[in-house]
Amino acid sequence: MATIFTKIIEGEIPCYKVAEDERHIAFLDINPVAPGHTLVVPKHEVSYLFDLDDEEYVALELFAKKVAKGLRKAMPCKRIGETVIGLEVPHAHIHLIPITTEADMDFRHKQQLPGEEMASICARIKEAIEAE
Ligand code: AMP
Repeated sequence: MATIFTKIIEGEIPCYKVAEDERHIAFLDINPVAPGHTLVVPKHEVSYLFDLDDEEYVALELFAKKVAKGLRKAMPCKRIGETVIGLEVPHAHIHLIPITTEADMDFRHKQQLPGEEMASICARIKEAIEAE
């Protein structure tokens, strides 16, 4: 069965998309640990990030690098933290999180932001990535 991320990639489920190329997509995490928390996902559905072949893995990280640069400009933060969990959705992905302190990466503190705020954050990040 297709993962929820494949359904997003195929447009069956909506998302706050900040970037896309032929092989990757980046969209806001629906339950962000910090505003701007973004997921970077290969369109090729592979369950576990470290099962991607070397070429796919490097391409995903290069795409994530571009997203992270825009994210850092768009969101008030010191840096962009990157983490891999993968316990909830069996479709390889990287979490990019705007951080100022270590506590901003705490996955015990997931939030839900109003739709309007998510849309406005999404537009800001998208614009910054496109300007990269
Ligand atoms: P994990 O697989 O443990 O790395 O966690 C999956 C992440 O995907 C969680 O942070 C969820 O909040 C996020 N997530 C799950 N469903 C969606 C969705 N439909 N849109 C955006 N983010 C999602």
